[in-house]
Amino acid sequence: MVRGGLETVIAIDIDDVTMSSVGAWLKQFHPGYTIEYIRSWNAWDHVDTCHSYEQMMDEFGMINPDNVELLPGAKETILELEKEHEIYFLTSKRKDMEAWTRVVLQREGLAHIRLVNNMTDNKAKDEYLYDVLIDDNPSIVHYKKLILFDRPWNRYVKAETRISSWSELKGVLYKYGNCSS
Ligand SMILES: [Mg+2]
Repeated sequence: MVRGGLETVIAIDIDDVTMSSVGAWLKQFHPGYTIEYIRSWNAWDHVDTCHSYEQMMDEFGMINPDNVELLPGAKETILELEKEHEIYFLTSKRKDMEAWTRVVLQREGLAHIRLVNNMTDNKAKDEYLYDVLIDDNPSIVHYKKLILFDRPWNRYVKAETRISSWSELKGVLYKYGNCSS
């Protein structure tokens, strides 16, 4: 990875930080449920019509990109940050989920940003180089460089830094790397 000048390296999770993956899954396969029903990382435990991790993953692989929206402010913030900082997407994706992810990134004008899949690399997200990671996974709340993106399934963990929207990001970035604002 190239690091030059004063830029900060910012790794950004895809699912439910950049785009509404769980919301799209529920809309398509479990209508009647919203993300507010999902109160832990084991989403299938909170949806009567989803019976296992395997079922959820299979359905996730078949998500229609037309159902996937970017989270409010994600695109604008990412495009602004990339003017000054090194940005890349760091995602845990089964291979069959990459296609719709890339369709959404293409549609939204974000396909030029590098997409790193830590499942493909067989590495944990803390094995990558970055100054800060923005992620919603409660099981990595112990990562030192994490900004936890608030979602119904991570509200039970205590995070050192938590934001509930993209508009809050700039207010906390100063704590990390070379971000000055
Ligand atoms: Mg995520």
